[in-house]
Amino acid sequence: MTRFIKEISSEDYQKEVLDQSRAVVDFYSTECPPCEALASKYDALSEIYGEFIPFVKIFRQGNRELSEQLDVTGSPTVLFYQQGKLTGDKLTGGVKRSDMMRNIEALLTEDELKAARSKIKQFETETDVMILGGGPAGLTAGIYLAQAQINTILVDTALPGGYVTTTHQVSNYPGFIDPQQGFMLAHYMSEQAKANGVQFRVAVEVNSVDLESKTITIDGVERIRAKKIIIATGSRPRPLGLPGEKEYGGNGISYCATCDAKYFKDKEVVVIGGGNSAIEETLFISKFAKKITIVHQFDHFQANKKAQDTLKSLDNVEVLFEHEPREFKKYATMDMGVVVEDLKTKQRSEVRTNGIFVFVGFLPNIEMLGDRLELDQWGYLKTDEDLRTSIDGVYAVGDVTTKKYRQITTAVADGTIAAISITKEL
Ligand SMILES: Cc1cc2nc3c(=O)[nH]c(=O)nc-3n(C[C@H](O)[C@H](O)[C@H](O)COP(=O)(O)OP(=O)(O)OC[C@H]3O[C@@H](n4cnc5c(N)ncnc54)[C@H](O)[C@@H]3O)c2cc1C
Repeated sequence: MTRFIKEISSEDYQKEVLDQSRAVVDFYSTECPPCEALASKYDALSEIYGEFIPFVKIFRQGNRELSEQLDVTGSPTVLFYQQGKLTGDKLTGGVKRSDMMRNIEALLTEDELKAARSKIKQFETETDVMILGGGPAGLTAGIYLAQAQINTILVDTALPGGYVTTTHQVSNYPGFIDPQQGFMLAHYMSEQAKANGVQFRVAVEVNSVDLESKTITIDGVERIRAKKIIIATGSRPRPLGLPGEKEYGGNGISYCATCDAKYFKDKEVVVIGGGNSAIEETLFISKFAKKITIVHQFDHFQANKKAQDTLKSLDNVEVLFEHEPREFKKYATMDMGVVVEDLKTKQRSEVRTNGIFVFVGFLPNIEMLGDRLELDQWGYLKTDEDLRTSIDGVYAVGDVTTKKYRQITTAVADGTIAAISITKEL
């Protein structure tokens, strides 16, 4: 903690926050990885802006009443004050440096802003390996590299853990008898990487990536140069852009039958899509669900003939051809609604269901990586068997690569292979 940060308790809140013309307050907790991720940013920003604005820290668990009064329900939560009143954003979770700066700078006069900005200095860090992406693939690579005494920096635009963090329960990752809550499994993986010595730069903004020189810039201030880079940025479901999609993703809407079908034994589900993956995943879900309604925009499926024939033989599948989803609704746990439009009549109706599966494809997270990497026809990164890409010294692992099955175990395997290959080369 720097000389500009004051740790206070609720008794001092009036004097140190409300009575000040401006203030920034960080409500933090112990054993809180996102709080740890914020701490170094908070320190650095206090050195730049602390001369003008008091930087305050309040231990949330020790000051529960004040936290509740201010509706601070998660750690960390950063609040901004002007003349004793809350202003700007309430930042919580993986707090980004740029969001902090935007809110702080809105409180400064022009002269103060100039003076503060003149203190911002770029700096360079050198490392052996830089991993872009802290999902299971990136974290595993980090664990292996750190154990081989190789300096490793892991950079993630969000908090570490990748998709596992948002997966309700994981029951197919070996080593646990009972299903694990996804965020706990992700937590174990990232703590293991940290304990082995991987340096984290998480909830950061990646400003530029130069794979040729193996240099990236983060948060506008730090240039990291490495001997090797591992790309582990994963993929994301292709968005439909519909109301309710973001709110209920992973919470009523699933993108993975292997992972979630088992929770729908004797239940009804809606499947969106009609390509190969939609039909093959429907066949899998049909082993559990009592009824499946497929919503598909065309008047026929694009899936392979064999899968279509098997689908036709099922008596628990109904198909709404030439229909498109327009909105997702949630009434309660396992009580969802899909508003669909009949493309011929333009009439809308609602299908009430227990769960929704969307299979309209995934998109690899390859923006910012330039155009020199060799891709497959779907935009995934091509690699050799050691997970080397087409650029020397650049590896790719996990869901961002060309592969048939995208699971935690396959991502972890990739991370292992790339790390061992690099260890032999360095
Ligand atoms: C809803 C859902 C449920 C699932 N359930 C299961 C399950 O039960 N069991 C199972 O085995 N698999 C499951 N999967 C699949 C599994 O989660 C993935 O295969 C696995 O997480 C892939 O790991 P990864 O490290 O390649 O990528 P991800 O887990 O996607 O991690 C990628 C990371 O890269 C970061 N990132 C993205 N862009 C950048 C960038 N430009 N710079 C830096 N960082 C970046 C992201 O923030 C993220 O942390 C599920 C998938 C989904 C979508």
